[in-house]
Amino acid sequence: MSAPHTPVERADFDQVIVPSFAPARFIPVRGQGSRVWDQAGRELVDFSGGIAVNVLGHAHPELVAALTEQAGKLWHISNIFTNEPTLRLAKKLVAATFADRVFFCNSGAEANEAAFKLARRYAHDVHGPQKFEIISAVNSFHGRTLFTVTVGGQPKYSDGFGPKIEGITHVPYNDLEALKAAISDKTCAVVLEPIQGESGILPAEQAYLEGARALCDEHNALLIFDEVQCGMGRTGELFAYMHYNVVPDILSSAKSLGGGFPIGAMLTTHEIAAHFSVGTHGTTYGGNPLACAVAERVLDIVNTPEVLEGVKARHERFKSRLMQIGERYGLFSQIRGRGMLIGCVLSDAWKGRARDVFDAAEREAVMVLQAGPDVVRLAPSLVIDEADIDEGLDRFERAVATLTQA
Ligand SMILES: *Cc1c(COP(=O)(O)O)cnc(C)c1O
Repeated sequence: MSAPHTPVERADFDQVIVPSFAPARFIPVRGQGSRVWDQAGRELVDFSGGIAVNVLGHAHPELVAALTEQAGKLWHISNIFTNEPTLRLAKKLVAATFADRVFFCNSGAEANEAAFKLARRYAHDVHGPQKFEIISAVNSFHGRTLFTVTVGGQPKYSDGFGPKIEGITHVPYNDLEALKAAISDKTCAVVLEPIQGESGILPAEQAYLEGARALCDEHNALLIFDEVQCGMGRTGELFAYMHYNVVPDILSSAKSLGGGFPIGAMLTTHEIAAHFSVGTHGTTYGGNPLACAVAERVLDIVNTPEVLEGVKARHERFKSRLMQIGERYGLFSQIRGRGMLIGCVLSDAWKGRARDVFDAAEREAVMVLQAGPDVVRLAPSLVIDEADIDEGLDRFERAVATLTQA
């Protein structure tokens, strides 16, 4: 018999949680597919996908089965031992990508932390201690540990925490000349999101990623792609680098990888991986059997032509309707992004008001996201039903109508 739960409400958040977030007014208690129910029993359409995490929606029966089956067998065993789900998932990731080896951890920040440490270690071992500089993009987002937040190109997130990690330069995104001017033989790595997520769903230009690859090769620097947000099928390819045919040396994944169960992964080649020798880096939970069992099932389902082709078709369905809504109400200047990672760029008249759109959408029972103050972001499940797309967009249009007529 389980003990009865103590009743809780949204107001409790403001009393007992560290105030680093400002969540919506309602508390979701249950989800099924792309629908979510709150404490009062109100049903919402979910276009937020847990910020690009719930890649197969809520309570997908195959993920529930993978988790519960593993839960009855082995939850945790530590990295003193290996386990079957870890090995199965790693083999599948290796088979599906450029990579030969995988390091598992628990989040996007940890995957990037591992990537940046590995890039520095590789350069240190192979080229010498003077080669430690990392170049990343203005407005990029790579996580919230001190290293990753410093590599991230948003000073508002990294200022005020004492001395920063040294040797990090930020260049404007999609500006190859700026990268060319910044890179040198002291550069150990260039880090890019193939689609900048948090700062507004901004895709890289083809020539930019190709040029970055060539510059890295010329200067013996590693190219790291942060695919924490844009990877794992979200764009309609398993990883976004596959659209561009530009292959990184290290790739980080998280968010969609676990479909809602925490997991991160850093993928790389044999040659580079060799520089994380025994004892060089570690984690208690990384490669946890529960997380890997779920992620293995996510990968099995996502990495199929039906799901990946379906993502492209769903993108078109969203895009044409969003463009109509944008034109009818003068709200958006552009709809951008790929697959189930969509950015609606607010027109000049609405600049800075993404939060108002978010609030209006919530009042009409549809969950959306912001990506900065000027972009409304949608990151729904890759398998969202057409009926849910249409119903959610009807609600979204009503929200926009109320907002613009207010
Ligand atoms: C979300 C995100 C991260 C950080 O992931 P966490 O799991 O929150 O640590 C890193 N990079 C990108 C591109 C992201 O979108």
